[in-house]
Amino acid sequence: MKEIIIVGAGPAGLTAAIELKRFDFRNRIIVLEKSSEVGGHLVSGAILQKDEYYNYIAKYPLNYNTVITKEYLWKLTENSYYNLTMFLPDEYRNKGNILIDIVDLCKKLSEEAAKIGVEIHTSCGVTGFLKYKDSIVGLILADGTKIKSDFVIVAEGACGTLTEKLLKHYNVKINKTYALGIREERRYKNNELRNNNVGSIYHTVGWPSNDNSNGGFVYFYKDKVVIGYVTYLNYSNEYLSPYNEFEKIKSHPIISKLIKDTERTKYSAKLIAINNMDGPMIACFHGCTIIGCALGLLDSMKLKGLHNAIISGRMVAEKYMSTTTKMVTNIIDNFVDADIIDELKAARQTSSIFQRYGSVFAMIWRSINKMVFPLLLRINFNFKNKWFNHNKKPPRDWNIKDNRNDSLMLSGINYGRNSHINVNDEIRHKIYDLKLNNKMSNRFCPAGVYKWEKQFKHYVFRMHPFNCLQCKTCLVKTPESTIDWSVCKNGYGPNFTTKNHKNN
Ligand SMILES: Cc1cc2nc3c(=O)[nH]c(=O)nc-3n(C[C@H](O)[C@H](O)[C@H](O)COP(=O)(O)OP(=O)(O)OC[C@H]3O[C@@H](n4cnc5c(N)ncnc54)[C@H](O)[C@@H]3O)c2cc1C
Ligand code: SF4
Repeated sequence: MKEIIIVGAGPAGLTAAIELKRFDFRNRIIVLEKSSEVGGHLVSGAILQKDEYYNYIAKYPLNYNTVITKEYLWKLTENSYYNLTMFLPDEYRNKGNILIDIVDLCKKLSEEAAKIGVEIHTSCGVTGFLKYKDSIVGLILADGTKIKSDFVIVAEGACGTLTEKLLKHYNVKINKTYALGIREERRYKNNELRNNNVGSIYHTVGWPSNDNSNGGFVYFYKDKVVIGYVTYLNYSNEYLSPYNEFEKIKSHPIISKLIKDTERTKYSAKLIAINNMDGPMIACFHGCTIIGCALGLLDSMKLKGLHNAIISGRMVAEKYMSTTTKMVTNIIDNFVDADIIDELKAARQTSSIFQRYGSVFAMIWRSINKMVFPLLLRINFNFKNKWFNHNKKPPRDWNIKDNRNDSLMLSGINYGRNSHINVNDEIRHKIYDLKLNNKMSNRFCPAGVYKWEKQFKHYVFRMHPFNCLQCKTCLVKTPESTIDWSVCKNGYGPNFTTKNHKNN
């Protein structure tokens, strides 16, 4: 009997757990999740590709599984929009894909896992690993408990703290780009309005951003509307506030019409990791492997990672079972499936054209390239990404009403009395954040955790760690890594499963 520990009860971790248990019921499979309940820290759109849905997920009785019937891609201007839907290449079309809810999906996967004997422990944040010689032999929990295991699967999602420690330990560099997704769930004030738009999805590019990559989405479920905005974190204008960009898109004349007669019921934020694919996809180490979004297995053009997370969970199980001894002992291996690598490379290429020349050109180029050239002869080149405009002026929304605190009331946050954020070098932090970057931390955090306050002639740095949404933007955006952020014990943090609405 082998004991395998999986870190993270997201789609990747839970799929791996179910498949490993099904392969051999004698194995002891343990899933450790930092949130107080499965789904508590999960945020996603969430469109699932139809292949993965019908091949693997359809057998679970999901509450949300709406087939997408209408889709739109709009390029917004300040007061209007251009409809670009007709330029969408087939591979970026979502008609027929399924609108699911990631919390609902993971709850159903965890019920199935528990039924077949997988042990799922919530409120178990993992902060480090135990090693023997050069192998990983166990984990250290946030409360200091040490557990030994035969094999560890890390499925932490984007910007995992354990993942970064492992990559550093094995001296492997995976070049990832990060984006912050801010998302709100809204319910209809009047239930009769519900059926208006079910199964429709809207994606936007353009305003309020000057950069081609950032964009918004509005998805219509049977009883709710989900609206979100994704900001790539490579922006150079330190005055930009992702939260304000989100507020602006909600106030756009055409978008505000879409969410008319709804009221917000949940607020959440999370990083998205995109693998830049310019190094080997090494993810299998001695006694341990990394899967899902922790590796950045997300298509940067579609902003979809659920299907790759599920595939990587299944693959790790298959690979584990076929090469058990090798994986448990000493192999550093190329783990990721060739199809996933091809998909991510193509997406990266289109994405760099998109950023440089705009959406229409990128889509036309992608379609022509696919039609004209056979598979092996496709033109492949990469522009250096144009990150981004160097216009470092306060945006015109400078005076937008900052109601981040009101939004946080909808995130179910509880930290007890425990702070998990510290400044590790106050002088360096002051130089880089206050002096060189114009108090950037006041703006990048979607929870308003950081604030420079003027006291007499000087600025004092204040933190409100009890507001933290655990999106991990501060780990990416803090110049010189002057902020220490650690995984919490006891399931502290937000709980995005909390119900804040009357009619559910
Ligand atoms: C706003 C937004 C919209 C998106 N829209 C779509 C979409 O429409 N379609 C799509 O396919 N994809 C979408 N994605 C991406 C998709 O959500 C991810 O690709 C997918 O969730 C990755 O799954 P995962 O299991 O690898 O990681 P995650 O879903 O992030 O799960 C990781 C789990 O590990 C837990 N964890 C993390 N660290 C620790 C630790 N140290 N100890 C214990 N537990 C830990 C977390 O709490 C979490 O439960 C979107 C993402 C965002 C943020
Ligand atoms: S403190 Fe950091 S992790 Fe927490 S919400 Fe702000 S940016 Fe996100």
